[in-house]
Amino acid sequence: AKQDGRGVFRFFEPALDAAARKRRQLELDLREALLTGQFRLNYQPIFDLAKDRIGCFESLLRWEHPTRGNVSPSEFIPVAEETGLIVAIGEWVMHEACRQAADWPSHVRVAVNVSPLQFRNSGFSNIIFQALTRSGLPANRLEIEITESVFLEGEDGVLQVLHQLRGMGVRIALDDFGTGYSSLSYLRSFPFDKIKIDKSFVDRVAQDESSAAIVLAIVDLAKALKMETTAEGVEDRDQLDQLRGQGCSSIQGYWFSRPVEGGAVLDLIAEPMSA
Ligand code: C2E
Ligand code: CA
Ligand code: CA
Ligand code: CA
Repeated sequence: AKQDGRGVFRFFEPALDAAARKRRQLELDLREALLTGQFRLNYQPIFDLAKDRIGCFESLLRWEHPTRGNVSPSEFIPVAEETGLIVAIGEWVMHEACRQAADWPSHVRVAVNVSPLQFRNSGFSNIIFQALTRSGLPANRLEIEITESVFLEGEDGVLQVLHQLRGMGVRIALDDFGTGYSSLSYLRSFPFDKIKIDKSFVDRVAQDESSAAIVLAIVDLAKALKMETTAEGVEDRDQLDQLRGQGCSSIQGYWFSRPVEGGAVLDLIAEPMSA
């Protein structure tokens, strides 16, 4: 039977409307959150397998909405990107992460996620410079994590900024490696310090041969290019053993620790532990 066009239209319109309203509200709430200080950072340790200690913490943005409670970054970061708010939010993140990391022992770095819009913004390297200067954090203790999507609108400007940051001493990691379309060509374009192997490969690394083969290939490729590797989303002992056997440099995931509040970082560093 043929559908009644008007009926279908009437049926879907309120739903679309509600989604658009929700999005608009989220945008307003994000602006408010930035103005009234509702954001904070959590930190998840990245465990260095060769040195047998925590070498880095990844900063992860947290938002406690006044009425909705915690909102996941996977919900609000895309909206912040679409509305351009990520530039201002990301600036806050950079300052806050550097400020807190300046109090950590000197062998511990901080890794900060940077979204494509933020990275491509003309003031980006200046914001990093300001954050380092104001916090006193040495540049080599800051690592930025970018995904290959920063390259989507052309490589030239991006490479220039990457070289500028590298010149300052900032480390650069390629995040979510293996999930994009053409990761390999980016490895040729820029000498990243680190490749982060996406959780989707790590998930089944101890179970299926193809995941294990892919992880091993990434680790070997990284070694040949003199880049470190971090396996993301390690949740159990079998994964850890497998990754260690394959020569991965560091691991991150719930098996070792969930993200913690800023105030718990020093305790975690002081705890005697081994992976
Ligand atoms: P990501 O950069 O890939 O960060 C890793 C995500 O995996 C984090 O989720 C972390 O909490 C989670 N994770 C870590 N270990 C495990 C594990 O063993 N199992 C599972 N299931 N998950 C694990 P989170 O904090 O919800 O962040 C989600 C994404 O939001 C991040 O993915 C990143 O893309 C983005 N994000 C977070 N903070 C920022 C930020 O400050 N700026 C920007 N631009 N993006 C951010
Ligand atoms: Ca990341
Ligand atoms: Ca990641
Ligand atoms: Ca990821």
